[in-house]
Amino acid sequence: MSWFGQNARDLPWRHSRDPYGIWVSEVMLQQTQVQTVIPYWNRWMTALPTLQDLAGVPEDRLLKLWEGLGYYSRVRNLQRAARAVMHQYHGRIPSQRSTLLELPGVGPYTAGAIASLAFNQPEPLVDGNVARVLSRLNRIEGDPRDSAPRDQLWQLAQGLVTAAGELKSVPSTPMAAGRYSALNQGLMELGATVCLPRNPTCLLCPVSGQCQAHRTGEVDRYPMVRPRVKATRVRYLVAVVTHAGKWWMRKRNVGEINQGLWEFPQLEVTDDPREASISARNWLGVPESQLIPLPRIRHAITRYQITLDVFMVSLKRIPDVIKNGEWVTSEEVGELALTAAHRKIAGSLLPRHN
Ligand code: SF4
Repeated sequence: MSWFGQNARDLPWRHSRDPYGIWVSEVMLQQTQVQTVIPYWNRWMTALPTLQDLAGVPEDRLLKLWEGLGYYSRVRNLQRAARAVMHQYHGRIPSQRSTLLELPGVGPYTAGAIASLAFNQPEPLVDGNVARVLSRLNRIEGDPRDSAPRDQLWQLAQGLVTAAGELKSVPSTPMAAGRYSALNQGLMELGATVCLPRNPTCLLCPVSGQCQAHRTGEVDRYPMVRPRVKATRVRYLVAVVTHAGKWWMRKRNVGEINQGLWEFPQLEVTDDPREASISARNWLGVPESQLIPLPRIRHAITRYQITLDVFMVSLKRIPDVIKNGEWVTSEEVGELALTAAHRKIAGSLLPRHN
């Protein structure tokens, strides 16, 4: 906690103890790096400064504010949870972990983060950073994603919370965070800045004297995360269909992954590029001479390595296979929420919207 008081990074959501801002930051930070999140969070808090604003914002605007962060179920759940708080708790975010856990999309980590960071409740939390620190400090056997090691990590985090409650005094911390807030933020900060996945800077670590992995020279052995599964390669054809200065685009339907996001028509094809070119002709029924190749886009998401073979084609009549869509102007594209890969395509066509 003293180390955190002296080494906490200056992050915008640390300037306030507003539970709404902390909640938004925690959801954004799941699977996204701090430096990426900062501009998103600033923009979000300007556009939707209160929970009430979030509860009432139309979906298109919501998705646009999240565009590029991915995992869109996170933001949909955030809005559902905001609406539940408006209805059930008169707009006041609950401080109790058990109540928070009943909200859509709020799991043990987020509940612990809101309860401890915003309300200084004596609640533990374990995210990837904390799991790494505690695994090394205690030489925890097993992958932290498996139930036995995970339970052990939560118990250790609970033990630290209990110990923090017994301290007679608390070191000074940013925003005069209370002891539980400082403890949990300190653990996460240590994992994010010192106890790094590779080459942790143990010489600067405030708890190196208590670290079992450091003492036995086994830092690289912990946490015992299983190697990632091999990436799956996926290839799509993407048609930028133009007519009279407009583009033909479709909005993903309810039930589809990334529902509500916009994209150019696309077709999943075999990973063999020769077959892909045959499919392009067959797909739209257009002679190859009319297909203008655009730069290939590569994109990675979770375990998928995605290649998009993009081409432009000018068509007055839309083929049946891509008939679900509408014409949009280049100005309108800038306002729509696109999937990350298709934003890259739009960006390459329209640099000013990138
Ligand atoms: Fe992590 Fe090294 Fe500190 Fe142990 S001593 S907690 S491995 S930074």
